[in-house]
This record gives sequence, structure tokens and C-alpha cells, in this order.
Amino acid sequence: MVAKEYVEYDRSRGHPSGDGLYYECVLCGGLVSSMTPPENERCPCGNLCKDIGRLGTGIGDNGMRLVRITESEKKRESRTLKLVPRGGQNST
Ligand SMILES: [Zn+2]
Repeated sequence: MVAKEYVEYDRSRGHPSGDGLYYECVLCGGLVSSMTPPENERCPCGNLCKDIGRLGTGIGDNGMRLVRITESEKKRESRTLKLVPRGGQNST
């Protein structure tokens, strides 16, 4: 399950970055990670573009939206508790 929520932020104070935060292109819906990748990143249509430390779109700041994507991994470890029989315990 992947949950996606739009995050409002003050654009004049810069673009937040963090784990699970992505910028979504309003034109094509492509996502670009907010974390600084080793390489530049672009959305599929090329509107939203990021190079090191800079983020912007061809149509201005309104061309992107900040989304938080949380992946809830259902790691259901069925832990079967093995009862080890206590044997050979000399309490005397
Ligand atoms: Zn795009």
C-alpha cells in the first residue's frame, strides 16, 4: 500500500526535502525525489527538473506540488515461538 498526500509549504522559504517527499509535476504527474540524488532528475515530460540543489519547473513553482509518499510495508513476520523443552536441569 502506498499512501500519497499533498503537502503545503511556503515556497518563498525554499523547497523542503526529506525522506518520502517528492515533487510531482502537475503536467505529467511524474515524481522527482526531494532528496538530492547523485544525478539530475527530470519528470518524464521535462517540465519538472532538478539539478544539484536546485528545483524548478518550466512553468514556474506552480508547476509542481509537494507530495509525501508513505509506503506501509506489511511485514508480517509470523514468528513462531519455539518452546524449547527444558531438559536436564539439575536444581539440586
Ligand atoms: Zn512532467
